[in-house]
Amino acid sequence: MKAYKSLKDGTIRLFRPDMNMKRLQSSMERLQMPGSDFDHQQLIDCIAELVRLDQRWIPEGEGYSLYLRPTVIATHKFLGLAAPDDILLYVITSPVGPYYKSGFKPIRLTADTPYVRAWVGGTGHAKVGGNYGPTMKAQAEAASEGYAQVLWLFEENGEDTITEVGAMNVFFCIADRETGLPELVTAPLDRGDILPGVTRDSILHLARSWGNIKVSERFATMREVIEAADEGRLLEAFGAGTAAVVTPISCVKYRGTDIDIPATGEITKRIWDEVTGIQYGIKEGPPGWSVEI
Ligand SMILES: *Cc1c(COP(=O)(O)O)cnc(C)c1O
Repeated sequence: MKAYKSLKDGTIRLFRPDMNMKRLQSSMERLQMPGSDFDHQQLIDCIAELVRLDQRWIPEGEGYSLYLRPTVIATHKFLGLAAPDDILLYVITSPVGPYYKSGFKPIRLTADTPYVRAWVGGTGHAKVGGNYGPTMKAQAEAASEGYAQVLWLFEENGEDTITEVGAMNVFFCIADRETGLPELVTAPLDRGDILPGVTRDSILHLARSWGNIKVSERFATMREVIEAADEGRLLEAFGAGTAAVVTPISCVKYRGTDIDIPATGEITKRIWDEVTGIQYGIKEGPPGWSVEI
């Protein structure tokens, strides 16, 4: 997560730390780590104290923040394969700057990769290191072909379902064939291969509150995306995560063909404005989202 200096009054704020604690807990549980029953408020209090001590390291301005990475490693002195008896929980902090210094920079993706990020029954829903090491080769191969990230698919019932992009959740906005109404689609969590992003959850909540678009947690398929693109109904697409908030997608390569997506749309921009507005204390968000420390 990140600590932000309010652009309105200089207060220091965390964004939805409670959700981060829940995810840390469930990730620890998945790895059978002791201490996963830790007191969430106590760890938030510790992180808040750390941020107060380090507050001169929080850069100011839109897009600037202090990145915070609570990390847990096993420290059990044992060579066999067993759940650890001892763990170390520590928090890495680092000042970070804006992803977009001069407007959005849409990225091109490739879905043509022989690798799979996560699968049913695996650890895709947990933020565990083992999910990320194996993606480096896929990432390097995508980069060597001129694509910024991999669009991760998972085949189910003969369909390529869209799961995530790089280490972000992904949203597609598709107009309904009959009504023309936009539908904002992201993968659901119940299959177990999707990381429950705090940004994802926040976007779903905000977009549902607008009341003017349909918001769905369901698996979009590549077949559906191709059809929508062919019929001019593929409106926008973006990745979502704490690092960049939203990252517009301009193209997806699939089975050797580039599918173009119109550049940054209205929905992507509105989500950016609302999420960053709440993070930087400019806009009032739902209760408990922006926590002053
Ligand atoms: C961290 C992460 C996300 C985004 O989660 P946020 O809480 O929004 O930062 C999405 N997908 C993967 C695979 C991740 O590791």
